[in-house]
Amino acid sequence: MGAVDVDYLEAIVLILTHLEEARAALRAAIEQSSSIVAFTGAGISTECGVPDFRSKDSPWMRYRPIDFDVFMSDILMREEAWRRKFALDDIYAMAQPGRGHYALAGLVAGGKATAIITQNIDNLHQVSGVPEERIIELHGNGSYAACLSCGWRHELGDIRRDFEATGAAPACVKCAGPVKPATISFGQAMPAEAVQRAHDATIACDLFLAIGSSLVVYPAASFPSLARLHRARLVILNGEPTPLDAEADLVLRGDIGDILQPFAA
Ligand code: NAD
Repeated sequence: MGAVDVDYLEAIVLILTHLEEARAALRAAIEQSSSIVAFTGAGISTECGVPDFRSKDSPWMRYRPIDFDVFMSDILMREEAWRRKFALDDIYAMAQPGRGHYALAGLVAGGKATAIITQNIDNLHQVSGVPEERIIELHGNGSYAACLSCGWRHELGDIRRDFEATGAAPACVKCAGPVKPATISFGQAMPAEAVQRAHDATIACDLFLAIGSSLVVYPAASFPSLARLHRARLVILNGEPTPLDAEADLVLRGDIGDILQPFAA
């Protein structure tokens, strides 16, 4: 036999689809690690009633998204953005954290997980009890709004009341600047501080858990590869294949809530 082909060995990925095997493998990975970073996408919140982005019939895909420059330049489209925002909010107004959120909250509370990097905007990690300083939101937070000029925080209840009365897109009470949901639109710059914190947490962890993301939205989806580059183990948990599965040490394919349920106690 010739020399061992290291690249070939590194390309071997363990993909587990059996529930008990997946749970056991995840438990072992967690026990062997001392510094976990979780990276979450919309899939962790579907059992909470928040539809994900790319699945069939997703309400997020019903209309072509309104890009940031259009929101800024076209007042009619800005009003349309607010109409859509409130319609979507009505879909998941009652959402509560699921088993995945509570499992991760437990890992943070137990000192195992140092950070949760999330693409989600649904605020459910906060509601599950994870301290704000452990949550890194790459795409903002949809539970409030902010002035794009001065940054002043605006509550959605106040904006909605005025919007429903006048139909006019909100302006800042402090500086009259444009107010936008505190989420990141297509074409809008990612929040630099959050990106830096996510980078720092990622390169310092020894286990990176990517949960419920199709891993196609960049630059967010670059963090799993960054973790791998810095020698963390990469575990991907998702219901369907992702483009990064071949980079992972372990792929758990199944329902997020089912696999994480024992960790949620
Ligand atoms: P995505 O919709 O592209 O991918 C979600 C993945 O989760 C899919 O591969 C899907 O098959 C999987 N999935 C869904 N439910 C699952 C379950 N119960 N068990 C296992 N797998 C499951 O989402 P994304 O990668 O997070 O990208 C979407 C973007 O849209 C994000 O950047 C986010 O900002 C935004 N978004 C956020 C929310 C939210 O806050 N909950 C919801 C929709 C969209």
